[in-house]
Amino acid sequence: MNWKNKNYNSWYSKKNRKTFRVYHKEYISRVKKAVFGFYCGGKIRCMCEGCPIRHIDLLSIDHIVPIRGKRYGAGQKYGWNLWLWIKKMGYPKGFQVLCMACNKAKGTNRCCPRYGKKH
Ligand SMILES: [Zn+2]
Ligand SMILES: [Zn+2]
Repeated sequence: MNWKNKNYNSWYSKKNRKTFRVYHKEYISRVKKAVFGFYCGGKIRCMCEGCPIRHIDLLSIDHIVPIRGKRYGAGQKYGWNLWLWIKKMGYPKGFQVLCMACNKAKGTNRCCPRYGKKH
């Protein structure tokens, strides 16, 4: 009967994994909305003045002052790792919400190349 057990186990864990993935995805998207909403002060949008991007999938959390190393604990965190960390730490200061374009431009330009404001 061993093979039967084995089959059942693999079916069961596969099903479980799927449930976990769905649950995890929903949880992450809830955390994401809460974190982005917090730094935007309610309405989720790119915080660059003049930028019209409002869709959450086009936005990202930006360290206002780049953080290096482990000093602050968020140095190497990106995406949902960072969102969960922010929630766990009680929404620390030093983050803002920028769209991908503004976020990318921040690395090479002092001001927003599209809207002329500092990021
Ligand atoms: Zn933007
Ligand atoms: Zn911008």
